[in-house]
Amino acid sequence: MDYLGGFLTSAAVALPAAVIVYLWERWRLARPGGPYARADFSGLILLIALAVAWWPYLPGNPQLTAILFGGGLIFLIAAVADNWSEGWWLAILGVAVVAVLLSYQSITVRVVNLPFSQNYVSLGWFGHVITVLWLVVCAVLFAQAASILAVPLGVAALAAGTLFLVCLLQPAITGPVAAFMAVTICGACLPQVPFARLLSYDEARAGAYTAGCLVGVLSVVGALKNTAFLVALVPLIIIGVPLFAATYPYAAELRRGWRAVVFAERRGHLHDLLLRQGYSRWQVTALLLGGTVYVCLLVLLLVWMIEVTFVVKTVVVAVALASGLLFLYILLRLLPRSAGKEPASPAGKVRLLGVPLTPITLSNAVEQAERFLEEDRPHMIVTPDASAVVRAQQDEELREIIEQADLIPPDGAGVVLAARMLNLPVDVRCAGCDMVEQLCRAAANKGRSVYLLGGEPGVAEQAAANLQRRIPGLQIAGCHHGYFSDDEEPQIVEDIRSKRPGVLLVALGIPRQEKWIKKHLEKLGVPICIGVGGSLDVISGRKKRAPVWMQRAGLEWLYRTLKEPSRLPRLVALPKIIWMSIRELLQPSDVPPQSPPGGQR
Ligand code: UDP
Repeated sequence: MDYLGGFLTSAAVALPAAVIVYLWERWRLARPGGPYARADFSGLILLIALAVAWWPYLPGNPQLTAILFGGGLIFLIAAVADNWSEGWWLAILGVAVVAVLLSYQSITVRVVNLPFSQNYVSLGWFGHVITVLWLVVCAVLFAQAASILAVPLGVAALAAGTLFLVCLLQPAITGPVAAFMAVTICGACLPQVPFARLLSYDEARAGAYTAGCLVGVLSVVGALKNTAFLVALVPLIIIGVPLFAATYPYAAELRRGWRAVVFAERRGHLHDLLLRQGYSRWQVTALLLGGTVYVCLLVLLLVWMIEVTFVVKTVVVAVALASGLLFLYILLRLLPRSAGKEPASPAGKVRLLGVPLTPITLSNAVEQAERFLEEDRPHMIVTPDASAVVRAQQDEELREIIEQADLIPPDGAGVVLAARMLNLPVDVRCAGCDMVEQLCRAAANKGRSVYLLGGEPGVAEQAAANLQRRIPGLQIAGCHHGYFSDDEEPQIVEDIRSKRPGVLLVALGIPRQEKWIKKHLEKLGVPICIGVGGSLDVISGRKKRAPVWMQRAGLEWLYRTLKEPSRLPRLVALPKIIWMSIRELLQPSDVPPQSPPGGQR
C-alpha cells in the first residue's frame, strides 16, 4: 500500500474542503438566526478524504469498506442528534450499533495477552462487548472535547500519526492495512486543525464522534494482531488527554468537597473549566495538543521498549504520566489569563507564602504614595523580592515589618512567578529604580524634598544629581552614605528629621534597610520611607541596569548576577520560592466547600 500517496491524497482533499467549510462558517456566523442546521462538518470532510484515498483498495478490502460505511453512518446519526437538544444518547446509540456491525465484520478484539505472561487469552463473544465499549468510549471522549474543535481533530491527527509510526516500528504485529488507515486519517485531520481554531460547536459534535470512532477502530485493526499491550494500553494512553480532560473536573470537584456531583454535567469538561478560568482558546488548544504530543512520544518509547518486561513498562508509564500531569498543572498556573483570579482581600492585600503583598501597578503605587505625602504621618513602603519572601519565612522580625508596612508592591520576577503559580493576582512588578524615580516625581509635584541614605560614599550624591537632572523642580534635602557605625546613627536620624523631607530612600540592602526604617520610623516622621536596595548604585551610574528586553522578560536578576558573580548565592532564593510554591500547590486545600456554580448539585 502506498503510504505517502495515501497521506497526500487525503490531505489534498481535506485542505480545500476545510477552507470552504471555514469560509461558510464565517459567513453563517456573521448572519445569526438563519435557518441553518447545526453540523460539525469535520467528520464529513474526514470521510470524503478517506474515501478518495482508500478508493483503489476498497474492492479488495471489505474491512476498509465496512469502516467507511460505519463512519458515514455514525456521522449521519450524530449530525441528526446534533440538532436535538437531548440527542447525545442517539449519537452514542449510533456508535454502539455501528460498533456491533463492525465487530461482526472481524473488526473486533479477539485475544488479549495477560500481563506477566506469554499466553494469549481468547475472548470469544466477550471480545464483541469489549469492542463496542471501546468504540463508544473513544467516540464519547472525542465528543467531550468538541467545544474546541481543534482539540479532537488535533488529537485524532496525532493519535493516527503515532499509530502509523508504531506500525512502521512493528510492521509484523500491526500489518499494512492499519498503517495505511493511520496515515490517511492523519492526513485527513491534520489540515483541518488550523481552520478549526475559530469554529466553536457548543452543541454540534458529529465530526468529533466520527473522528473518535475511527481512531478507536484504527487501534483495534492495528493492535489486535498480536500485541495486547498495544491494544489495551497504547490507545488508552493516546486517548489519555481527553480522558484526563473528562475526569479532571470531577476529581477537582470531589477534592473541594462537592460530593454529590452530577457526572453528566455538560459544562464540566476540562476545556470549559479552563476557558471559564480565563485561559484563551489558543492556550487551551496548545496545552491539550501539547499534552497529546507528550503521550504520543511516550507511546513510541514504549513500542521501542517492546521487549522490556511489563513491570518496567508500567513504571515508565506511571512516572511519565505523573510528571507530565505535574508539569501541565504547573504550566497552567504560570500561563497568564484574562480573568478568574482570586480577588484581593478587602484590605487590598494578598498573601504569598504567608507574606502580604499589595497587588498594585507602579502608577497605582505612585498615586498611593502621593496620598501618603498629603497625610501628616510616617508611612513605610516595602518592595519584597524573592529573597525577602524566602527570608521572611525564617526571619520573624522581617515578616512582622512587612506585615505592618503601609504599601507592599512586589519586586522581582521570582515573586511574580510564584504568585502566578499560586493564582494570586500579582502580574506586574514594581522595579526599585522605577519606583525611586516615580516617588521623586511625586515629591517634586507636591513640593516636597527627598533624602538619600545608603551606598558607598559619593553614590547618594551622584544619584541625587542625576535625579535632579531628570526631574525638574526636585529638591534634595540631604545625602549620606550607608557605611556608618551604630554611634553615628542618632546623628543621621536627627539630620533627616530636621530637614523634614517628604521621601526617604534607604539603600542598605534587604533586610537591614527595612529593619533600620522600622526602628526609626516614628522618630524620623518622614511621610514615605522606602528601602531601595541597589537602586542608588544604578541611578548614580556606578552600575548598569539590565537592557530593556531583559527587564521585560523578567531576567534582570540574571543580568545582575552575570555582572556581579558575587551575587550568585542570592540566586538560591529563586528555586527556593518556586519549590515552596509547588509545595503549597500540592497541599490539600483547607478552603471550606463553596457552593458550586449552577446551584443544583
Ligand atoms: N550598603 C550600604 N551599607 C552597608 C551594606 C550595603 O550602604 O552596610 C549598600 C550597598 O552599597 C548597595 C546597597 O546597600 O548600594 C545594597 O544593594 P544590593 O544590590 O545588595 O541590594 P538589593 O537590591 O539586592 O536589595
